Amino acid sequence: MSQIDYTRAAKYFLLKDVWDGFRLGMKYFFRPRPTVNYPHEKVPLSPRFRGEHALRRYPSGEERCIACKLCEAICPAQAITIDAEPRDDGSRRTTRYDIDMTKCIYCGFCQEACPVDAIVEGPNFEFATESREELFYDKDRLLANGDKWEAEIARNLAADAPYR
Ligand code: SF4
Ligand code: SF4
Repeated sequence: MSQIDYTRAAKYFLLKDVWDGFRLGMKYFFRPRPTVNYPHEKVPLSPRFRGEHALRRYPSGEERCIACKLCEAICPAQAITIDAEPRDDGSRRTTRYDIDMTKCIYCGFCQEACPVDAIVEGPNFEFATESREELFYDKDRLLANGDKWEAEIARNLAADAPYR
């Protein structure tokens, strides 16, 4: 005949597992929450965050891009398409600058290759679209992004400059 395990029986009778679970729940209830209530709360972003692309301008309003096509050449996804023509003043500028964001893998190579900090990946990560076509960015869209995010982009580039 088997002996009765009184210790185990007492644990069952006094609902020890329930109280252990309750104690654990209360312990985490009063701790600071590791999750954030997105989109009302957001975590800090690194200055190196690689988000939506933007084409920047100089403070004078002139576009930075000199149509060297280094970004197009280095892009491993072949997502960038550039056409260029010389202007009347002899400067070289793009007539077409497209990025197919459905191909982009956000590697940041285009930004690294650019000699004049024209194409950058900004801090914006909230650019989900309802259609594929909306992710085919043209030059106007990219320049508009640059105008919109210039302050944040310039601040991030300055913060990252000592490490480049
Ligand atoms: S981030 Fe990478 S994949 Fe995307 S456009 Fe730039 S080089 Fe191409
Ligand atoms: S964005 Fe930069 S790398 Fe690309 S074509 Fe313009 S100047 Fe050259």
